[in-house]
Parts: sequence; C-alpha cells; structure tokens
Amino acid sequence: MRTPIIAGNWKMFKTVAETLTFFDGFLPLVSEVSHCEVVVAPPFTALAAAFAAAAGSRVAISAQDVYWEKDGAFTGEVSIGMLLDAGCRYTLVGHSERRQFFGETDETVNRKVRAALAGGLQPIVCVGETLTERDAGKAADVVRRQVRSGLAELTDSDLSPIIVAYEPVWAIGTGRTATPETAAEMHGEIRRTIGEIWGGKAAAATRILYGGSVKPSNIQELMRREDIDGALVGGASLDPASFAAIVKYL
Ligand code: PEP
Repeated sequence: MRTPIIAGNWKMFKTVAETLTFFDGFLPLVSEVSHCEVVVAPPFTALAAAFAAAAGSRVAISAQDVYWEKDGAFTGEVSIGMLLDAGCRYTLVGHSERRQFFGETDETVNRKVRAALAGGLQPIVCVGETLTERDAGKAADVVRRQVRSGLAELTDSDLSPIIVAYEPVWAIGTGRTATPETAAEMHGEIRRTIGEIWGGKAAAATRILYGGSVKPSNIQELMRREDIDGALVGGASLDPASFAAIVKYL
C-alpha cells in the first residue's frame, strides 16, 4: 500500500507573514484529512515559520532544493543539516526550473539525492520531458534516463524513502495538464524502469507523484489512476482553499 502524498511547491512566493496567513486558513480546512500525507515546500526564508505554524498538524515541510556538502565556502547554498534544523522532512531535488535556469544536471541531482538520503531528508526527485522532447517521441527515453541517472548508485533498500515526481515541463505553470492517460503511461514507464534496476519490490513501493497544472478540477481523475500516488502542485498550492480542495480529492 502506497500512502498518497499531496505536496505544494510554493516556488519563489510568500513572505513569512504570508506563510503564517496561509497556515491560518489552510490547517482548519485539512484537520480531518488522514487519507494522504500533506507536504508544503515554502522558500528557504519561510521554512522555520512554516514548520512552527504547522506544528501539531499532519502537514510536513519540504525544502525546494538542497546542497550536498555539510558546510563550507559555498555562498548561497543551504545544507541538509540546516534544512533539518529548520524543520524539513523532505526536499525537492531536480525541479525542472532548477534544471532549466540554474544548471542542475542528472549528476548534481544524483549527488543531492544521495546526500539527502544519507543525512535523513526524504528526496522528492523531479523528472519530466520538455515539449520538444515529447514532440520528437523521446519523452519516455528522457524520463528513463533522468530516473536511472538521478538515482544512480542507490541500492534497493536506499530507494524506499525516495519519492519521484513526474512533471512534464510543458505542463508546469501553463494550465496544460497531461491527460490522465499520458500521465499514467509515463508513471508506468518510471515504475518499470525502477523495477528493471532495483527489482519489483522497490518498484511497487516507490511513490510517484504527478505535477503540472494540477487543480481542484483535475486532481480526482488523476488520482484514480493506479500508478499515480499523489501530486506536486505549484500555482494551486498558494491559496489555502484551492490547495485544501486538492488535498481532499476523495
Ligand atoms: C511545480 O512547480 O512543480 C508545478 C507543477 O507547477 P504548476 O502546478 O503551477 O504547474
């Protein structure tokens, strides 16, 4: 049984005050929720405030990125220890915006994933093809490569805390969601790839989230698919009512 996860990625939105206002509105709306894990990924500056605001609730906090070194002269970077200290349990790794704008590669994703696991943070590893890659018929190849390389050198037992998020780049922030059929097909590819490398047990246990213009109006249909174990939500996670409606997709 894979417990579903609904995670919100706030990207570069919300101050500390706005974070507190969000939790004031959001927590009462999800206080009865027990069918899924709920995760919120605020910007670094609001992590500690989010953790304090969510204390005593079932909402867990995630970072949006992490660096693999413990400490040192790495201006602008944030370590795993610092994220744990701020209350994080998860971290996104390899979000397409990091790959597109900040030079993230399969190799840096892999270093971050291995370091996060070793340090006790659960990585949510983002993969997904661009529109050009999809139009060229390469979507499955790209995503298989990202999974293989991003999770390289992990053993099957390392794999259990890992969460994969399939986020087609053409669906992020565009209002253009992948159809449930396309999403389910790609989730199947990811699960097969994991099975080929780490075995059927690891594949069956790995949670794979869908991300890309998820909204209250399309979450239910996506969640009906067997291989879709939750969602990574950008824009629609910024508003307490819309994120709560997604969390309560049942
Ligand atoms: C995201 O940022 O991971 C995302 C899926 O964004 P959106 O829901 O806005 O498409």
